[in-house]
Amino acid sequence: MANGASINRRYRELSFLNAAVAILIGVIAAYFVAHSASDIQETRLRATGREAVNVQAEALNGALDKYRMLAVMLGQRAEVRSLFLDPDQNRAREAARLVGLTTIGLSGALEVAFVRPDGSILARAADKFVDGFGPDSVLLQTAMQGRLGRAVRVLQKGRRAYVFTARVSAVGGHLGAVAIYVDLENIEDNWSLITHPILAVDQAGIVVMSNRAHWRLLPPPAFNAEIDAAPDAPPSDYFSNSRVLAPLNWTLTVLVDATPARNAATLWGGLAVAVCAAIALAVQLLINRHFAALRRERRDRTTSLRLERIVRDRTRELLQSNTALEAAVEQLHRTHTELIQTGKMAALGQMSTALSHELNQPLSAVKSYADNALTFLQRGREPEARDNIKRISELADRMAEISRHLRNFARKPNPTFGAVPIAAVIEDALKVLVSRIRNDRAEIVTELGDPALLVRGGHVRLQQVIVNLVLNGLDAMEGQPAPRLVINVSSTEKSVSIAITDCGPGIDPAVRDQIFDPFFTTKGVGQGLGLGLSISYNIVKDFGGQLSVHDNAEVEGGATFVVKLEAGQESEGVAA
Ligand code: ADP
Repeated sequence: MANGASINRRYRELSFLNAAVAILIGVIAAYFVAHSASDIQETRLRATGREAVNVQAEALNGALDKYRMLAVMLGQRAEVRSLFLDPDQNRAREAARLVGLTTIGLSGALEVAFVRPDGSILARAADKFVDGFGPDSVLLQTAMQGRLGRAVRVLQKGRRAYVFTARVSAVGGHLGAVAIYVDLENIEDNWSLITHPILAVDQAGIVVMSNRAHWRLLPPPAFNAEIDAAPDAPPSDYFSNSRVLAPLNWTLTVLVDATPARNAATLWGGLAVAVCAAIALAVQLLINRHFAALRRERRDRTTSLRLERIVRDRTRELLQSNTALEAAVEQLHRTHTELIQTGKMAALGQMSTALSHELNQPLSAVKSYADNALTFLQRGREPEARDNIKRISELADRMAEISRHLRNFARKPNPTFGAVPIAAVIEDALKVLVSRIRNDRAEIVTELGDPALLVRGGHVRLQQVIVNLVLNGLDAMEGQPAPRLVINVSSTEKSVSIAITDCGPGIDPAVRDQIFDPFFTTKGVGQGLGLGLSISYNIVKDFGGQLSVHDNAEVEGGATFVVKLEAGQESEGVAA
């Protein structure tokens, strides 16, 4: 699995790559999209311009075309011819003017003029302005050659008119020409409705018509620079659409503002950039999510590995401590068994002093009785000798009894147990201790109750318990002037309690919790092993009973040890 640093490095690399690709694609996409959008818009704008120029070309052609024939027709009218033939005659003048006015009225022309071959004006129908042709005027010359003359003329105050001229002929030669003035500004007025700049440039390169007033009668603006400079044409960029109007020899141009194309490029280019940025953002989010999952997975993995390791360590420790515990329990078992024996040996050791004293005394008595008997026999004093021998026999019986108790105590306990008479157990225990009791001058009060009362246990082991407890009581009362120890047996239906009460100082509260611990003793070296209560406690427990300590309820100080055992049934049989 990748470590934290390499995950972070990969994250940075991918993020950088994503940003780089996004910028690259963004630039390319913006370039192409902007171009395409601009092209589409340009095509549309150019089409609009083309359409506008075509419509206006047709309209202009159509507007001027209707006047074309009028000049020719007027040149052939008799009234007009009469005017030229007899110009001083008022009637002819009036007739010709009338024809001219009628033409103006019907066609909407600006003026109808009758021109002499030298260019001077013979008459005007409406007489609205003064205009003259020089003899070399192209308009006049063309007409005089029998063709239709046509040209733009700038009248007073810059008024522009398109003039058609036609010859007035008579038999044998030409008389002059008819000129029809068409007002260009009338047509131009229609252009004011068109928003795009429109201009018509004549052969001489002069703007003859335009819906931009300041361009009129000037050379056409150099597109862009001069359009920019024009106060009412702020847009800087135009698509130009031109068409040559064949009969007029003009070039009609419609300029379409290119700003929408530029705007479309900016808008669509910006949109492409935005889309790329959004995609890059989405990809970055995916990358973030992926790496967050990776990091989480790694964290989880690390945590579970750590947990596994902890569990493994704990399990190993537990196994080790379990093994150690098993060994300790086994050792404890062994120690327990050994302790029972050791305790017994310790008790034996304690008792052996008393016993040796107990046996030495009768032995020396036996020796002196025997010596006396021998002397009495030598002297023939048979009755005294018999008396001494009888005493020897009695002493031997007593020693045999002590020996029997000792054997009983030292014998390995019978693992089985059954019903034992508690009174007999207590009496046997006291017999073992008789010499110690006598030495201490202790008063032993026994309240044993029914001698047949049975408890569940083993005779020897219970005896050992009683010996221990009585010895402890005697030890506690050592040095007292009147040591007194009470052994009381009480029973209920199910249990029997043996209470051993002394009048010693009682149990020191500071050590009360420890007195049942093995090897705990307050006695001096060589006086106590600290095993008595521990062994007794376990023996009683083995019998299903309890050993507890209480304060002597009757005297100040003093302790009461209570052995509580199950009541024994006769059917169980008596145990050793
Ligand atoms: P040991 O008698 O060898 O000291 P025990 O296990 O029999 O070992 O007794 C442990 C301790 O309990 C004694 O040292 C003593 O302090 C205390 N103890 C036992 N019995 C009595 C008693 N009847 N009165 C006061 N203290 C006692």
